[in-house]
Amino acid sequence: MAALTDKFARPITDLRIAITDHCNYKCVYCRTGNDGALYSDLPFADYLRMARVFAGLGIKKVRLTGGEPLLRKGVVEFVRNLAQLRSADGEPLELALTTNGHLLAEMAQPLKDAGLKRVTVSMDAVDPDRFARITRVPNGYDRVRAGIRAAKRAGLEPVKINCVLLRGFNEDQVVPFGMFAREEDVVLRFIEFMPLEEDRVWSPDVVVTLDEILKRMAEYRPLVEIPHQRSETARRYRFDDGAGEIGIIAPVSHPFCGQCSRIRLTSDGKIRTCLFSVWDHDLYAQMRRGASDSELEDFIRNVVLRKEERHHIGEADFVPASRTMVHIGG
Ligand code: SAM
Repeated sequence: MAALTDKFARPITDLRIAITDHCNYKCVYCRTGNDGALYSDLPFADYLRMARVFAGLGIKKVRLTGGEPLLRKGVVEFVRNLAQLRSADGEPLELALTTNGHLLAEMAQPLKDAGLKRVTVSMDAVDPDRFARITRVPNGYDRVRAGIRAAKRAGLEPVKINCVLLRGFNEDQVVPFGMFAREEDVVLRFIEFMPLEEDRVWSPDVVVTLDEILKRMAEYRPLVEIPHQRSETARRYRFDDGAGEIGIIAPVSHPFCGQCSRIRLTSDGKIRTCLFSVWDHDLYAQMRRGASDSELEDFIRNVVLRKEERHHIGEADFVPASRTMVHIGG
């Protein structure tokens, strides 16, 4: 069977599934703090069927996200079921999860035992007070740090930390994060802030760019670039003594749409072909009307052919996405 490919010849191998629209954090750059979940969740059996059909079409990696995926009861069992699926070439899927880490300490080992391979923890400050101001939840920092350590102990390696920097808010965290990555032996990923927030806070001036992050980090220790694969979204660096790994995902200042291999499923079963899509494609509606697996495959292939060539952040013709990040699944 031909692999899932879009009309720009990009192979689509990476599926992200949001398994809930609920989140227990209210990060200032992501949510308004007033609105809760807007979209429904599906039974796990429905996500599982969707994942199986996608796997048969060439998806190799599945990342669970949300909302906050660890809030969803039954997630460990879902991972166990996903681990039974095989890709089109007969291999197990590479299973990963992105979480705010608040519930990770108690769930890391069960998730690993169920077949999860890797975890990414989002964290935007390495000091407890600042962390609480960003997440708008008290006492989260120690829990998240415990979650990171539990993930390492469980062997969910490499544990990656995602950090979004905003000017005037946490851009001074670059060097503390560099130290943190070395001390905790975790892979750090800075992500440029994209216009995908619920409140209108994005402007080009707020984005802390790749070049600026490198400059700030060099004041602590010089970084040396590590060669990266074409499909990788992050530019990767090591400190000059060989320790630590820092990646910078720079969709704003150095877009990588030409190498995009991703597709997303929202918690309510809609396919999104780009974070910045202005529409989505209702896969769940197809299932509800009784579509067979091969009809679902045809639907998915057609949707993938409509994947956008690139985003238009910062351009005059930019149109905001029809959903914000927390309701898509980052
Ligand atoms: N709750 C989980 C978590 O905190 O990782 C998963 C969902 S969260 C929406 C996924 C990631 O998106 C987080 O790393 C978050 O920092 C990032 N994110 C949210 N809004 C963003 C934005 N406007 N630009 C860049 N990254 C964003």
